[in-house]
Amino acid sequence: MQADRDQQCQPVVPGIFRASSGGQGLELVGGHCPACHRYYFPRPPRCPYCLGQVEEQGLGATGTLYTYTVVRVRPPYGLPSPYALGYVDLDGNGLRVLGLLAPESLDKLEIGMRLRLAVGQLGCDVGGAPCLRPYFEPAPPHPSQGMQPDV
Ligand SMILES: [Zn+2]
Repeated sequence: MQADRDQQCQPVVPGIFRASSGGQGLELVGGHCPACHRYYFPRPPRCPYCLGQVEEQGLGATGTLYTYTVVRVRPPYGLPSPYALGYVDLDGNGLRVLGLLAPESLDKLEIGMRLRLAVGQLGCDVGGAPCLRPYFEPAPPHPSQGMQPDV
């Protein structure tokens, strides 16, 4: 079972995702500067604008695909070939983050599509050990986009 196998792996970078509040699903973890109200991912130790302390901040798990590319050269770190990277506009905080896209979704990717965060065993770490990586997978349309027919 995928979940059992995933529990034996460690995140590729500690602290960049967690169970969301209430334990329903996942969220990215970044930072928020309380002085100038900017969000960051990943979380810097200090705000580059005001040099204030940046607090840990859950950044949610959903967004919209801004753009993407499919990489067809030999992948690093045991990633599948080909694999896709995309810029995702996160909901609610104005951040645009670069992330992996679900390997099984390469033929379904469309700019503007809704995405949600997932975590799974994907590739290996710098030492060659299997690891958990966050990635984005296709999600149902945002409620503001109205009803969409099932595909
Ligand atoms: Zn600041």
